[in-house]
Amino acid sequence: MTPTKEPLVLIVSGPSGSGKSTLVEKILELPDTMPSISCTTRKPRATESPGKWYDFVTETEFDRMLRQGEFLEHARVFGRNWYGTPRKWLEEARRKGLDLVLEIDVQGAAQVKQKLPQAVAIFIVPPSRQELERRIRDRGQDSEEEIARRLERARQEMQHHREYDFMVVNDDLERATGFA
Ligand code: 5GP
Repeated sequence: MTPTKEPLVLIVSGPSGSGKSTLVEKILELPDTMPSISCTTRKPRATESPGKWYDFVTETEFDRMLRQGEFLEHARVFGRNWYGTPRKWLEEARRKGLDLVLEIDVQGAAQVKQKLPQAVAIFIVPPSRQELERRIRDRGQDSEEEIARRLERARQEMQHHREYDFMVVNDDLERATGFA
């Protein structure tokens, strides 16, 4: 018989540099969880292989998927690239009886919460603005312009934390993931 349990949909958001990807990786080590692989029109970074965190698609393909109603949510992030969560992951989670983890931005989180009010939304924040800037710089992959843009975007995103069910201050990864 196919599983009938409704999957827990866990939304994780937070500014880049909040450490949310590491937290998401830890969450996905828990049993019976699966990630949602987003589609994006952004170009892959040197360290990214397609199909792991993202399916990299053209704008034409993204548009087609959007028109055919294939996305649970979608948004234009940083005013540039498009990102979307394909519905197929929710269907797969249902079919397999797994919990689904979405790492998406505040716009996407609001759309998912509207469609699936039982989804649990977690907002990850860095301990301070200084620490956030240090983490973004330490990654060494962004230009000064990009760093400034990410910091401004973080400031804007942080204003949405009240729309979330939980807020986690990521000052200590072990403690934040509850593995300490
Ligand atoms: P990056 O390009 O740095 O990987 O991600 C930029 C932002 O897009 C992050 O805040 C990330 O959480 C968000 N994002 C990634 N996938 C999706 C998605 O499918 N939908 C939405 N709305 N945001 C996403």
